[in-house]
Amino acid sequence: MNTVLRDLDGLHAWRQQLPGSLALVPTMGHLHAGHLSLLRLAQEHADHVLVSIYVNPLQFGAGEDFDRYPRSLDADLAQLTEAGCTAVFVPDDRILYPQGSAAITQVVPPATLCAILCGVQRPGHFTGVATVVLKLLQLTQPDLLVLGEKDYQQYRIVQQMLADFHLSTRLLCGPTQRAADGLALSSRNSLLTTAERALAPRLAAELDRLCQLPAGSDAGFAAAAARENLEAAGFVVDYLELRDSETLQSLPRTQPGGRWFVAARLGQVRLIDNKVMP
Ligand code: AMP
Repeated sequence: MNTVLRDLDGLHAWRQQLPGSLALVPTMGHLHAGHLSLLRLAQEHADHVLVSIYVNPLQFGAGEDFDRYPRSLDADLAQLTEAGCTAVFVPDDRILYPQGSAAITQVVPPATLCAILCGVQRPGHFTGVATVVLKLLQLTQPDLLVLGEKDYQQYRIVQQMLADFHLSTRLLCGPTQRAADGLALSSRNSLLTTAERALAPRLAAELDRLCQLPAGSDAGFAAAAARENLEAAGFVVDYLELRDSETLQSLPRTQPGGRWFVAARLGQVRLIDNKVMP
């Protein structure tokens, strides 16, 4: 059975006696094969892996799905034990936000990275993410942090934060794990109805098509056509854009290394995905 750490005294005592290197894999739980692939990647690069499970209220806006977010701690712990995870940190709001989340110092990433893509529909989201990741890093002192490419904007923002705050934690990005039909695995997929689940793979299929365009194609024109296809199928598209993988700036024309980003809603569920052009 892996060690389950629920309070700061337990966490600090555990951390102090831990020999060798430590990787942190932060999650919001309801674990799937995507999370477990990050755990495996972390295990390849560090002696021990700490997975954190915390649905961070600070990164959810008013009217978002904080209350509906799927939670399944017992099943998560069983999966992590099975996968050989060293320890699991399961804090609660009283531990991370003892004075409430409104009254704390927050980490505000640069607008060039956080006021675009998901940051347009979710203002404050990446401030919440950066703040909780910095808190988790300070609390757990890992040598390595492992994040998923699935949330690529989040990965870039955390990468920038590590650089800007001179943090020495190494960062690794694990590739997006997908269902056999191409849908990126996500805890939120369990909230899809059967009909929505059947439609959902079109998102990745549309990105695949866009990634196959020849270099130099008009990105805006291609995006508009793809958006139309998705909306005709029943998606409400929040954004569908080609951007530079490093700077996240818009690219007017397709080019190798450019990255297509999409967010679209099916009913109550908001799905995101991204793919890089070959
Ligand atoms: P979440 O629990 O959704 O906050 O995700 C926790 C970590 O798992 C983040 O670094 C995500 O990018 C990563 N992740 C989520 N879905 C996938 C996936 N399908 N493949 C790989 N990593 C993922």
